[in-house]
Amino acid sequence: MIEITFLGSGGGRFITITQFRSTGGFHIKASRNVYVDPGPGALVRSWRYKLDPRKLDAIFVSHRHVDHCNDLEVMVEAMTGGALKKRGTLIASKSVVYGDETHTPAISKYHIDVLESVHTPEPGNKIAIGEEEFLITPSQHSDPTTIGFRMKTAYGDISYIPDTAYFDGLVEWHDGARLLIAAITRPRDMGIPYHLSTDDAVEMLK
Ligand SMILES: [Zn+2]
Repeated sequence: MIEITFLGSGGGRFITITQFRSTGGFHIKASRNVYVDPGPGALVRSWRYKLDPRKLDAIFVSHRHVDHCNDLEVMVEAMTGGALKKRGTLIASKSVVYGDETHTPAISKYHIDVLESVHTPEPGNKIAIGEEEFLITPSQHSDPTTIGFRMKTAYGDISYIPDTAYFDGLVEWHDGARLLIAAITRPRDMGIPYHLSTDDAVEMLK
C-alpha cells in the first residue's frame, strides 16, 4: 500500500505568509519514505500528524521558492539523525543545490555533506528510491530549473506537477498516471504567469 499525507496544500506568497492554508508539502510512504517540497511548516506538521521525519529516506524539492524549500535543511537534519549519520537521498532542482542569480542555495554544504546522495537531475532522468522509480519531468516556471516527477509504483504512477505554466508536452509527460498532484493557484481565467489555473487543469484532464 502507498499512503500520501498532505501537510498543507497551500502555496504562493500570500497564503504562505498568512498560513490560511498550511504549506508543508506532502509525504509519500511507499517502500521508502519520501518527503516532497518541504515548505514552511513541514517539520512541525510532520510531528503533528505522527510522521516521524527521522524515518525519511529521501527528500524531493521541485525548486528554490520558499514555499517549496523553506524546511529543507531541518528535514535533512531529521533524516540524518541530527546530522550525525550519513544517510538519505536528496533529489532537487539545480537552483536548490547551487542557487541562481537571485537566490543562495537552499541547503548548506554542512547539510549536503551528511547526505548519502544528492541528485540534480534533468527531465527524462530516472532515479530509483527503494522499489519505486522517479522519472523526472519538466516545468516552465520563473525558476527555470524547476522539476516534477512521475513515480512508478506497483499500484500505478503518481505524478507531481509543481509550479509551471501550461506548455505543449506537459500532458504527455504525465499521461496515464493513476494519480496526479498538481500545483494550481487560481480559478478560471484568473491565472497568474508561470502557474496553472483551474482552466488549465480542466484542459489537461480532457
Ligand atoms: Zn514557485
